[in-house]
Amino acid sequence: MSLDTADPHPVTLILLGPPGAGKGTQARMLEQKHGLVQLSTGDLLRGAVAARTAAGLAAQEAMDRGELVSDRIVLDILTDRLNQPDTRHGVILDGFPRTEAQAEALDRLLEARGRRIDAAISLKVDDEAMVERVSGRFTCASCGEGYHDSFKQPARFGICDVCEGTAFKRRADDNAETVRTRLSAYHAETAPLIDYYAARGALTEIPAMGEIGEIAAALDALIERLGEAQVSA
Ligand code: ADP
Ligand code: ZN
Repeated sequence: MSLDTADPHPVTLILLGPPGAGKGTQARMLEQKHGLVQLSTGDLLRGAVAARTAAGLAAQEAMDRGELVSDRIVLDILTDRLNQPDTRHGVILDGFPRTEAQAEALDRLLEARGRRIDAAISLKVDDEAMVERVSGRFTCASCGEGYHDSFKQPARFGICDVCEGTAFKRRADDNAETVRTRLSAYHAETAPLIDYYAARGALTEIPAMGEIGEIAAALDALIERLGEAQVSA
């Protein structure tokens, strides 16, 4: 399916899953393949922290501890991003919504723009594996390609496979202790959204312990089905 500028109905996807489930990896692949825009509240917040904006300064402490940032800050930052024109052909929400209040606010934000959620995709993984996945991960500082100490090193040591960059970075909150706090926050605040979207008939569950390529193929098939449903609607 091509999501070109003539799309009467822009696609809105939500990726749900604990830290390390692969939301960011899959969102980046969907962005490249389907022309959707990845909206990661984690990335937006890290950008705000780096730029030392008021929102960033207010968010930093909670992020360092692995706790959730306040709904107010996250919603402001997300609304600003959703107002930018590149999002009008379709978005993948990665890391948002994370609380029921955020989910309700999102429903209102979309409704005001004549849009709705096409699918909330829950990536099913084992928590225990997430600690190791998250603790070992790092990304290329130039292009953002993701790597892992044990699972996915660059083919040539120290050189990014995609852009040949040689600088890499690790997130300050990607350590075993903070990951456990983030997993708890996920179960307490975010996992209930699985029922929230199931009740609205929008939920799809995808097993996500397998290979990155397999999971990507399952997501592609889902997007194809959404596209066909729209054409026949
Ligand atoms: P991960 O999914 O791996 O935990 P993210 O990059 O999505 O990582 O989020 C990193 C941190 O940013 C979270 O631990 C939290 O402090 C904050 N954050 C991101 N999105 C939200 C959100 N929607 N609501 C509240 N806090 C958020
Ligand atoms: Zn790179």
